[in-house]
Amino acid sequence: MKFKEILRTFFGTFFRLMPLSVEPGVRIFGNPNKNSPVFVTANFDLTVKRLTQYLKNQDCYLLVVPTNGINVWCAARGSNFTAHSIIPVVKTSNIDEKVEHRILILPQLSAAGIDVKLVKKETGWDCKFGPVYAQDIPEYVNDGLKKTDKMRRVRWPFIDRIDVGLGISTTFLIFVLIIIEFFSKDWFAEVILLGWGLIFLMYGLQPFIPGKSGWRKILFLEILIVIGVISFNFLAINQTKYIQNLLFIAMGLILIIGIDFDGATPLQKSQFDPILVKIGIQKLGNIKFGGRSKIVNSTIVLDQSKCTKCGMCYDICPKGVFEMVEEHKKMLNKYPGNCVTCEACVSQCPTGALTLTV
Ligand code: SF4
Ligand code: SF4
Repeated sequence: MKFKEILRTFFGTFFRLMPLSVEPGVRIFGNPNKNSPVFVTANFDLTVKRLTQYLKNQDCYLLVVPTNGINVWCAARGSNFTAHSIIPVVKTSNIDEKVEHRILILPQLSAAGIDVKLVKKETGWDCKFGPVYAQDIPEYVNDGLKKTDKMRRVRWPFIDRIDVGLGISTTFLIFVLIIIEFFSKDWFAEVILLGWGLIFLMYGLQPFIPGKSGWRKILFLEILIVIGVISFNFLAINQTKYIQNLLFIAMGLILIIGIDFDGATPLQKSQFDPILVKIGIQKLGNIKFGGRSKIVNSTIVLDQSKCTKCGMCYDICPKGVFEMVEEHKKMLNKYPGNCVTCEACVSQCPTGALTLTV
């Protein structure tokens, strides 16, 4: 790998909040024929690199569409990954001449942002939502483009938690280090060690920290530290002042790292977005979050009288909220408490049977 590519991978991995784009257009994998699948993804550098790892042994096409260098999930929820991202690439890539079918396979987590009817109207191509994770694509292709429930659900394993924790919090830590450099160089090394140590601990142990929401988990950790400060003071251990200062620094870092502890996960609603919107910040750079913040405290409601049991909501819900009851031929909104208000089902329901209601 060239040095420039290594640098881009490093930047994309550790500074996830900063968009890093690649050139949109068609990529060819293996020896595709007229029936080969056509995948679509966002033009975030890291997304394309990771997807490439799983497509390199397939015979297929990949359309990389412009999303301002933002990953699929954030781009779709922030209006950066829409039908208007896909249409020009389909029209200019000559993909019509390369295959006989007219099916685009989109990442499932793009469902919230894509107007599939508009894509069909403008290009003649149908959209189908593939697996959430690129690693499931080989199995998905082998099974004739069929998804299992495992492929539909978001997961949050240890390795993903560390990956996201480092990707989001490193940017914040760098800002803290710049401030420290100006005001108190004495604590530079401690902030580096504590900062990255806390990222590993907080994200690695996130599901096990007591508290239903991210901010409650942060409160729990802060209380632990206050108890630590009082204990060290009470026990009058040697170097108490130094240790106390370290604990105070840790308290500040925990607040910074955990500022959107829920929003960083694919499993919870962001608690931070609504505050930004309330104080008038609708977007940061290319990342828009105003729209999704309005519905963050909503509940999903299914109007049975409008439901045609098409199964789309079941297919694209990343949290398994819906269940099709075969005997009654009825779609149930079975686990509404699991909903993370991603709006995917609301956007894709063909009859308007689903709404997010406060
Ligand atoms: S997507 Fe809409 S119409 Fe289709 S099953 Fe779900 S609620 Fe019913
Ligand atoms: S039920 Fe909730 S989590 Fe599932 S697709 Fe709809 S909005 Fe997203």
